[in-house]
Amino acid sequence: MICPRCKTENGNRTICSKCGYFMYRVANQNVEKRTGFQRAVDDTKIVGKKVGKVFNIVWIIITMIVLSFWIIALLMFLTGGKVILG
Ligand SMILES: [Zn+2]
Repeated sequence: MICPRCKTENGNRTICSKCGYFMYRVANQNVEKRTGFQRAVDDTKIVGKKVGKVFNIVWIIITMIVLSFWIIALLMFLTGGKVILG
């Protein structure tokens, strides 16, 4: 690996033997650039999971409201409206 700062060949070293530059940071940046699209896809999947969780919560709330409505409707039917009207 050639040091990007002083252009010294360092073989398999990750830290430059001449100037002490941390070359593995550059290597990691290159990996991130190559997998940038893949990371974007992963981010979308994570956001999708979050949206899915929010959707599940909304779905539970809607189900509870509908169930509550039907329970109240059933109680009103059984009691002739005495539950709501007293
Ligand atoms: Zn160097």
